[in-house]
Amino acid sequence: MSTLVLTLNAGSSSVKFALFEAADGAEAEPVRLASGQVEAIGGTARFQARAADGGWATDTAPEEGIPDHAAALARVLAWLEKVRPGASLAAVGHRIVHGGPDHAAPAVIDDALLADLERLVPLAPLHQPHNLAGVRAALGAFPEAVQVACFDTAFHRGHSALQQAFALPRRFFDAGVRRYGFHGLSYESVAARLQRDHPEVHAGRVIVAHLGNGASMAALAGGRSVASTMGFTALDGLVMGTRCGTIDPGVLLYLAQVEKLGWDAIAKLLYEQSGLLGVSGISNDMRTLAASDDPAARFAIDMFIDRAARAAGDLAVVLEGLDALVFTAGIGENSAPVRAGIARRLAFLGAELDEAANADGAAVFSMPSSRIRLLKVPTDEEAMIARHALRLVAPGTIAAAAR
Ligand code: ADP
Repeated sequence: MSTLVLTLNAGSSSVKFALFEAADGAEAEPVRLASGQVEAIGGTARFQARAADGGWATDTAPEEGIPDHAAALARVLAWLEKVRPGASLAAVGHRIVHGGPDHAAPAVIDDALLADLERLVPLAPLHQPHNLAGVRAALGAFPEAVQVACFDTAFHRGHSALQQAFALPRRFFDAGVRRYGFHGLSYESVAARLQRDHPEVHAGRVIVAHLGNGASMAALAGGRSVASTMGFTALDGLVMGTRCGTIDPGVLLYLAQVEKLGWDAIAKLLYEQSGLLGVSGISNDMRTLAASDDPAARFAIDMFIDRAARAAGDLAVVLEGLDALVFTAGIGENSAPVRAGIARRLAFLGAELDEAANADGAAVFSMPSSRIRLLKVPTDEEAMIARHALRLVAPGTIAAAAR
């Protein structure tokens, strides 16, 4: 029997999951069998799953009986029993937003780690509690599996103190108020693909632009992260679907002191009502904005491109030069106009765009003479989690699961 891994990404009212099978060979990428999600937990929830090969799909009508994460995972377990009767999971890999200052690698979850991650809740109050609720639910639903925590911050833990520190009194740094950087599993996934498919690019000075609903950039030197546009939280840096990105902190003081907004209202504004949605007043979705002829939609896209290009300039300074700019995630992989807009702004640094190759969606879309290579690389955070989880499963456990 095969070795199966489930990946979980637990949010406030949803659990996204994917099922992978270990491939032969220690370093081979696990094979995705299926993906799905339980949405609107606590409301009229919905369970959806589809096979990776498009062979089948399960899509339930809205149902009331999924009040919490534990019930959601019981639903996933029942689904698994149906599609793979008698199968047992070797591992469950969890996406955990925050690993704090100490966790630079994925780790097997035990009581001590769970308590440690609980202490990090104040650093990511909007995400960490839900991630941990997912872990607890999975411990109950899949007791036989090794549970592995994969942190979105881990890939960035090698940043220098200079790149981590805010210009605040030192005691704040010591208390954990630092630039952590996020989207680490995506960057790791892209770096692994670069190493495999473009080793000469991987060895150089690279900026990876993860442009999705959440968006950030990371500077990689020889495949290692040295700086990120995201900081203490996933709010910082680029304009995102609904998040504001970099903002003058004086604006927050103004909102609190003059507009008398409470902190909950400010958090809602910055996380949910800003970015492409707030600027356009139309949508957080790049496709919708690209299809609109409303000038406000154009303005939002222009701002998205402007902030991304400026951030690339900033990270190029950290890298002391730039050999390649790599685009990934929903917008980075699919929007030729956004890639072109950012690349054109970097022409003065030596980026020469191959317009036709970019429009065709080619993996490399810089001119042969370009000093900066321009690439598009698909990210797969779930496959990265599955790989990590498999690496941490002891060989004996795999044998037991395979029996
Ligand atoms: P998330 O951060 O939620 O994982 P994704 O990486 O899936 O987000 O990216 C979602 C974004 O990608 C949306 O703004 C969507 O409009 C955009 N996107 C997807 N396909 C296209 C496309 N063909 N052209 C432009 N934007 C696209």
